[in-house]
Amino acid sequence: MRAYFSITVMLFFIIGNVDAQKPEDTEVWEPVPEVIAPGYSYASAPSDAIVLFSENVLDQWTDKNGDKAPWIVEGDYFTVKPGSGPVLTKLEFNDFQLHIEWRAPTVIQGEGQGRGNSGIFLQGRYEVQVLDSYNSTTYPNGQAASIYKQHIPLVNAMHPPGVWNSYDIIYKAPRFKNNGELESPAYVTVLHNGVLVQNHVELKGGTVFIGPPSYEAHGPGPIMLQDHGNPVSFRNIWIREL
Ligand code: MG
Repeated sequence: MRAYFSITVMLFFIIGNVDAQKPEDTEVWEPVPEVIAPGYSYASAPSDAIVLFSENVLDQWTDKNGDKAPWIVEGDYFTVKPGSGPVLTKLEFNDFQLHIEWRAPTVIQGEGQGRGNSGIFLQGRYEVQVLDSYNSTTYPNGQAASIYKQHIPLVNAMHPPGVWNSYDIIYKAPRFKNNGELESPAYVTVLHNGVLVQNHVELKGGTVFIGPPSYEAHGPGPIMLQDHGNPVSFRNIWIREL
């Protein structure tokens, strides 16, 4: 009986290992969004917005320890300093409308997920992907304007490398009961260069690289920009709390 039990346990661990979750398991390769050519327009902040960056100073942002944001500011934009970690807004938000502009490096380096990768994490948890998806192949649920590993964008509205892209993101935060259970999920709508690419999609939980997403109860959170090792730039960031 004991031998039988041991073998069962051993088999469990062997099979368990074979079945260990891999990043590839949550890549979705179909459908590939149609490529379209978006227009060029960039929205300046309305009077009731909180401007999170306009020029010269990153004083509304910190690194993940709450210290001075280490990214590189040049006039009206700033750029990821690879290896320095993410930057986060000092302010925390619930429901909001966010405008942000970003630019992949002009000189193409890397491919797929390694080319112009950054990300905008809503409430520090839910990633709207930033990636150079112009004439570049990756899994569509990880391309630019995807909700990373959750929702493929409706079309590919990328501008070429070196040209500024805009995202307008309308976000409704999840609600949790007092006991921490999910009461209602988060929803997000995204316009990429003015084109609807995510239409009020339901988030399935926090963004993860491996395995299925799940929710953890939380309150208001910051906007977090990802350091994925590529010098992606950002400018004209403003938010309206809803
Ligand atoms: Mg990313």
